[in-house]
Amino acid sequence: MRRKNMLSSDVLESTGVNSARCYQCGKCSAGCPLAGEMDFTSNTVMRMLQVEEDAADRQLLQSQSIWLCVSCEMCISRCPMEIDIPKVMDYLRQKSLQEGLQSRKSNKNIIPFHRAFLDSIKYTGRLYEVGLVLGYKLRTLNLWQDLNIAPRMFLKGKLPLLPELVKGKKQLSNIFKKTKK
Ligand code: SF4
Ligand code: SF4
Repeated sequence: MRRKNMLSSDVLESTGVNSARCYQCGKCSAGCPLAGEMDFTSNTVMRMLQVEEDAADRQLLQSQSIWLCVSCEMCISRCPMEIDIPKVMDYLRQKSLQEGLQSRKSNKNIIPFHRAFLDSIKYTGRLYEVGLVLGYKLRTLNLWQDLNIAPRMFLKGKLPLLPELVKGKKQLSNIFKKTKK
């Protein structure tokens, strides 16, 4: 029986993904483009949830893997059990922030990028590149990084000065409010 208060139970309750269904075939990790960079590959993430141990849960929430996942969905397309790993990774990122376990040195640039990206979606409903870059730079103080490519991108129309806003701003704001709860 699944133990209460374990990460796997939270994952199941919040995402509907039952990690116990994974039978460790490894197909997800074999196709993951980021597997080589991850500290725990996607099938290992599933295994760590399955063991239901506090230490494994904590290690997972402190891991770099959850921040490296780009939600490309290659894993779910290969998984014979159709386990939605990107959804799990997304949940684990939020949980990691909630529990304050995200502060590992190796994640120091990924998390500000994640926050800047979400801000862009929250305020414009789209990816607003200039806002994303500014948000990221202000958070990391990497002010000069990649600055040399900005003029070229601007001339090619890749950096619009004003954001394009979506119509359903109210619905968007409701989604964020609901998610925060
Ligand atoms: S969604 Fe994440 S875990 Fe799945 S293949 Fe893509 S990067 Fe890897
Ligand atoms: S492909 Fe699916 S069943 Fe196989 S290891 Fe990955 S999550 Fe588990």
